[in-house]
Amino acid sequence: MKTDTSHDLFTRARDLMPGGVNSPVRAFRSVGGEPFFAQRAEGACLIDVDGNRYVDYVLSWGPMIAGHAHPAVLDAVARTMRDGLSFGVPNPLEVTMAETLRKLVPSMQMSRMVNSGTEATLSAIRLARGATGRSRIVKFEGCYHGHGDSFLVKAGSGALTFGLPNSPGVPKALADLTLTLPYNDFEAATKLFAEAGEDIAGVIVEPIVGNANCILPRDGYLQHLRELCTRYGALLIFDEVMTGFRVALGGAQARYGITPDLSTFGKIIGGGMPVGAYGGRADLMRQVAPDGPIYQAGTLSGNPVAMAAGLATLELIQAPGFHEALERRTHELCDGLEAAARDAGVPLTTNRSCAMFGLFFSEQQVETYAQAIACDTVAFNRFFHAMLRRGVYLAPSAFEAAFLSSAHGDAEIAHTLEAAREAFREVAA
Ligand code: PLP
Repeated sequence: MKTDTSHDLFTRARDLMPGGVNSPVRAFRSVGGEPFFAQRAEGACLIDVDGNRYVDYVLSWGPMIAGHAHPAVLDAVARTMRDGLSFGVPNPLEVTMAETLRKLVPSMQMSRMVNSGTEATLSAIRLARGATGRSRIVKFEGCYHGHGDSFLVKAGSGALTFGLPNSPGVPKALADLTLTLPYNDFEAATKLFAEAGEDIAGVIVEPIVGNANCILPRDGYLQHLRELCTRYGALLIFDEVMTGFRVALGGAQARYGITPDLSTFGKIIGGGMPVGAYGGRADLMRQVAPDGPIYQAGTLSGNPVAMAAGLATLELIQAPGFHEALERRTHELCDGLEAAARDAGVPLTTNRSCAMFGLFFSEQQVETYAQAIACDTVAFNRFFHAMLRRGVYLAPSAFEAAFLSSAHGDAEIAHTLEAAREAFREVAA
């Protein structure tokens, strides 16, 4: 496999950017080796600067649910950009976006567009604090809500990958306001609320954890959080930056039948452009400036080109049977991977939710963060590289969920399973 051009770029990049990248996990530190540089992408595939082609299960970390460079999305972007890239005054697409969000996710009575998932979550907790007059927030070990100061406490994703769940630079006084809980532990949540419930502004949770691999909620767990929040007057915030429009058209809240007070979105609603959104109960959102005193703003928020890409993507995923087809594919793939691992004598279990899944090098079905981090990361890293050499790109960390798109067809699944049969044999050797 030729990698010279990527290697040269990475050599230059390391001198110019921390780790040679603009987001830590891209540097491949967890799995070792060097990242490849993308030249272009189409459908289910990434093509690198050396001409190598990879079936992509990262999908730009989630947004590309309809596949890369989908013609409908590219057309919408091209059409919109001819009218100008940014206006700094309201544009009609923002209104259509807010209407679409409310139609697909009814709890989003009102919304505000921002430019990333990070902005969405930090705006949501500011609102929770402002609206309740309380300071403390609750998050879960291994959950990642972007790199806002309050969230870099026992965080997942890159923070977990690099063993830096608590970042220097976050003032202790602020970190002390973030309380953490083990996800899926009913008792721990009950106990924390009994002790500190009156001080808690909000509970922010990835309803399906996608930043400590992929962990599904135990039966009734999200409902338990809903009840605790209601009882103690705290706001329940679903961070659906990853799960939104991915695990069901209406997100995890539709899948589990829970109505949060606030939600955050990103990734898919931008269709590959930099977008986030937060929203929820109208009485809360009316407290955001200029209707209310809680300040939040953005020069490029609601950008027309970004809205066009997001709306085109949301249009595609509303096709009848879209998510059902994705879910069938995920089962086909995960069943195939489990069988291939079994044949090679490699312990592997999977967790799945529609177009999102996790591979665990473990004998056990994983339901907690503690189990997720106890998995065999050495085996994962070997598997990752064995797959990469065979043209399959998984997330370069054992602590990330994997994604499917509607462009992953029979050929891509067959190629992946063929590669996996050989890769598992390498892992077992
Ligand atoms: N929330 C969740 C659940 C995420 O997975 C992420 C990013 O992966 C974020 C928030 C932050 O989003 P962004 O990287 O767009 O700032």
